[in-house]
Amino acid sequence: MSRRRKHVPAPICPYCQQPAVQAPSTAVYGAGRDFGAIWLCAPCDAWVGCHKGTARPKGRLANRELREAKIRAHAAFDPLWKSGEMARGDAYGWLADHMGLDRRDCHIGMFDVDQCSRVVMVCDWWRDRRAA
Ligand SMILES: [Zn+2]
Repeated sequence: MSRRRKHVPAPICPYCQQPAVQAPSTAVYGAGRDFGAIWLCAPCDAWVGCHKGTARPKGRLANRELREAKIRAHAAFDPLWKSGEMARGDAYGWLADHMGLDRRDCHIGMFDVDQCSRVVMVCDWWRDRRAA
């Protein structure tokens, strides 16, 4: 494997179908909050972070609605494994089964708004069953 930085094509904004532009994370988070590079579509207020030290996007560009949906999905799902009731890997396997996804494709960072809603639904269902 070459250690040379590979050229990464600009991801296409899923909202306006235009290529995103690379920007520092301070462009959206403000000065002093540098988390590395992001891909940004300013007209859509949509962005995605890059894997550390690379230009590879961590998922799709997310607008405000999707960012908030992902926060809700994590808030519903993370306690399943953070509480120790499931191992983290088991929890993702369980989620993948309920989402009809392959375990490798099961990342909340890659989900759309509908999938995030489904995460909240299945996690609520799981908690209800345990409480019963
Ligand atoms: Zn856009």
